[in-house]
Amino acid sequence: KLDRIYDPSDKPPCRGCSSNLVEPYIKCAECGPSPFLLCLQCFTRGFEFKKHESDHKYEIMTSDFPVLEPGWTAQEEMALLEAVMDCGFGNWQDVAYQMRTKNKEECEAHYMKNFINNPLFSSTLLNLRQIEEARTADTAIPFKRHCSTRHSQRHRHSLFLFFC
Ligand SMILES: [Zn+2]
Ligand SMILES: [Zn+2]
Repeated sequence: KLDRIYDPSDKPPCRGCSSNLVEPYIKCAECGPSPFLLCLQCFTRGFEFKKHESDHKYEIMTSDFPVLEPGWTAQEEMALLEAVMDCGFGNWQDVAYQMRTKNKEECEAHYMKNFINNPLFSSTLLNLRQIEEARTADTAIPFKRHCSTRHSQRHRHSLFLFFC
């Protein structure tokens, strides 16, 4: 879904990590009336806060998704992100099945290159890890620190692998 509802100048920061949101970001479709917005990183790690739960319906907010690689259209980038969120990070077989236009190897290689092995993305992950460590006593973030628990839950897959 492409949306252009919020003016970037009055957009609130990410509710998870307080970073300035850059597109694409996630808007919870169930929380409101003030928009519950998450950056992609916080969304992928299953951030929950008060009434917001990680299995709420969501919209991907973007007006102009960059084309990261020739051969991948903006629509395919969005489809890949959605497929990874739906199927789980590492489940490339199902991701490719949902994508239809790209095979398993292409999905994995592209995701790893553009969304994981990406200096900008990695430094954000590092910041998140520090924030999470600083907040371990904070009950507002109901994450269990035990790996097998969080990995087994839908929407708590992906980037957590890198925190272990
Ligand atoms: Zn965030
Ligand atoms: Zn919500």
